[in-house]
Amino acid sequence: MKNICVYCGSSAGNRVEYTEGAKALARALVDNNFGLVYGGSNLGLMGVVAEEVLALGGNVTGIIPESLVTKELAHPALTELIVTRNMHERKALMAERSDGFVALPGGLGTFEELFEILTWAQLSFHHKPVGVLNVNGYYDGLLAFLDHAHQEAFIRPQHRNMLMANTCAFSLLEAFKTYSAPAVVKWV
Ligand code: AMP
Repeated sequence: MKNICVYCGSSAGNRVEYTEGAKALARALVDNNFGLVYGGSNLGLMGVVAEEVLALGGNVTGIIPESLVTKELAHPALTELIVTRNMHERKALMAERSDGFVALPGGLGTFEELFEILTWAQLSFHHKPVGVLNVNGYYDGLLAFLDHAHQEAFIRPQHRNMLMANTCAFSLLEAFKTYSAPAVVKWV
């Protein structure tokens, strides 16, 4: 693995633990020699994780649609900033450029990105690891809901198990290294 894509809030949340979690993930990325691919913004946890990777001497690729360059304040000092024509191109390029995906705490944009990349894994469009860094139990409710969806037979067990979760960034990235994607499902 070379690059890890991080999805996270354009807000920082209201607890210092979220910022600390973003910094811990940055440290784990750099210590593992992984570059960061992310949405290119300077705001919230997005700015925190990018700043910290840069401060630790790591590589950061930001990918941002032109309509958000001023709105989300594109980070001015990344290793590479790619401006796409629209959001669809942004998300496709983030996926293409990355060997694994981590969601930090975030809001609707983060959820949409996480579920899109999981759905693409379910369909075997890619075979890369996906996980949440469950800072301060932020994702407990979401993980419980996914278990409920599995119990109600809307998510197959192998697809529920694709989403890794850990409170420790280093442990999550270790698990990524030995991840193997589930067998391709025959839908009918
Ligand atoms: P949020 O988690 O809502 O703070 O958003 C985090 C990131 O998701 C930001 O880079 C947003 O540009 C992106 N985002 C926000 N809304 C959407 C959306 N509807 N579809 C895809 N990405 C989004």
